[in-house]
Amino acid sequence: MISVQASKGVARRRIVLLGGPGSGKGTAAAWLAKRLEVPHLSTGDMIRAEVSAGTALGREAAGHLAVGRLAPDDLVLRLVAERLRKGNRDGFVFDGFPRTVAQAEGFDRLLRERATLLDRALHLEISQTSVEARIIGRIGCSGCGKVYHATHLPPREPGVCDACGGALEKRADDRLDVLRARWRIYNSGGPRLVEFYRRQGKLAEIAADVAPERLYAAVWEACAA
Ligand SMILES: [Zn+2]
Repeated sequence: MISVQASKGVARRRIVLLGGPGSGKGTAAAWLAKRLEVPHLSTGDMIRAEVSAGTALGREAAGHLAVGRLAPDDLVLRLVAERLRKGNRDGFVFDGFPRTVAQAEGFDRLLRERATLLDRALHLEISQTSVEARIIGRIGCSGCGKVYHATHLPPREPGVCDACGGALEKRADDRLDVLRARWRIYNSGGPRLVEFYRRQGKLAEIAADVAPERLYAAVWEACAA
């Protein structure tokens, strides 16, 4: 059970979420931001907003995205600085930022300039193997689209949809390549970032290979503690 307290009673309201692809950090960040009543900030969304607004920053970012590169640290930090200027210094949940130690150091500087600081870095811990196993086991109904999993959520009768009786088929392999590419990118900076926050004493390790309810409870606890 998740103990529900008023968000005002929670001291930790400036949070970043770390974790590899498939760790569920986007969903957890959205959940946490809602509960804390603070904005859920994703640099991916911020970049897309700048691009569609046609700002100078957006045009610069679009140039990198067009060739499949991640936006460079200084550009990401300028976006974040812009966002902090508009408010948000008293609370936020970031996911997908920071991505590198350089971004984390820059973020600390930006927060200090605004006389505030990061409260917690939550690391949603899950191995690439577990994430792959979840995807590999996924089966979907060709009739109604309902999704099952060979081990976590099997249909009552193998190969047959519980809901509509349609044929179930494996879905996966295309997504697996994409996932592996994203893990390669994550591994180039993610683990060092976790170490960075561990040294600062701000890291909370959270086992992410669990049911959503348990994950949310652990996330909440890490902010309340
Ligand atoms: Zn079905």
